[in-house]
Amino acid sequence: MRRVFGLLASVLLILASGGMLPVRAQSSAELARTVPIADMHMHLGKGYGPEHYRAQMERNNVRWGGGVGGGPKDDPVAMRAALGPRYLPAIGQTEFFAVFFMGGAAALSDPDRPQFKALFERAEREFRAGTVRGFGEIHINNVSRFSPAGIQRKIPLESPVVMEMFRIADKHGGFVQIHTSRNSGLEEILRVAERFRRTRLILSHCLPGAGPAELAELFSRTKNVFCELSAQGPSHGVERVYDRNGIKPGWREVIVAHADRFMLGTDPCCGLEERYDALVSEIREHLLPALPPAVIRKVAYENALREFGLPR
Ligand SMILES: [Zn+2]
Repeated sequence: MRRVFGLLASVLLILASGGMLPVRAQSSAELARTVPIADMHMHLGKGYGPEHYRAQMERNNVRWGGGVGGGPKDDPVAMRAALGPRYLPAIGQTEFFAVFFMGGAAALSDPDRPQFKALFERAEREFRAGTVRGFGEIHINNVSRFSPAGIQRKIPLESPVVMEMFRIADKHGGFVQIHTSRNSGLEEILRVAERFRRTRLILSHCLPGAGPAELAELFSRTKNVFCELSAQGPSHGVERVYDRNGIKPGWREVIVAHADRFMLGTDPCCGLEERYDALVSEIREHLLPALPPAVIRKVAYENALREFGLPR
């Protein structure tokens, strides 16, 4: 039946184009292989320098990247200066980790720590100058068998340091990308999204532990919550949203139903720094082909461009 409709549509198209053969619509699989990607979870960290990131993006047709920081050796603001406005710098991750390593989880709630004071001063300056639009990746609850034991912590989202990040982001219409877990509940996310309505709240890894129905609920009850789909496939050993056989039950439906809320990410971290090409390939091969072409474009880059004001 579907075939008959397809044939009929082609005939109508040929008639409408005055007998000329229509350009064949691009299939999802084809588009998935070639679509430009905005990687909104592209960590820095090992001090490779800008040329490394420029090359890995070019090789993979990742035209925009950033959204998280990740290491003290490559500064996100310097990276933007080198890579240009298609790089989306996020600050705060280095400082959040430095304080955690010095004082443990309790220290993350102390806004008087010198690293945080310096971060907020810098943030006010950079946001005002337009050189930074967000904070990330800020780990709130990463207690999971997938996170290295030495970096795990579970703190309230509504803690003073994190709320100050949201306050600054909100003042400038920016974003905060947080890594938290379903087992902290949905309520704190809903309260923070409601309190800081000008802020895009980005959930790293599409909120680990949450099912498609819970994400649908979050998206239905908010306007400014988004998620990015990094670390969901075979390379990270997670295979929550997709595996080598394709997308998992329920995920295609929620992505299609809330197509304006999903973005892509690779999360080249924690041993996967040198496997960037494979991280992009698995997204192109196993995640994107299940989606209709218009949804592929939204998730791959259109949503990121719209929400972060990135140039084409
Ligand atoms: Zn990450």
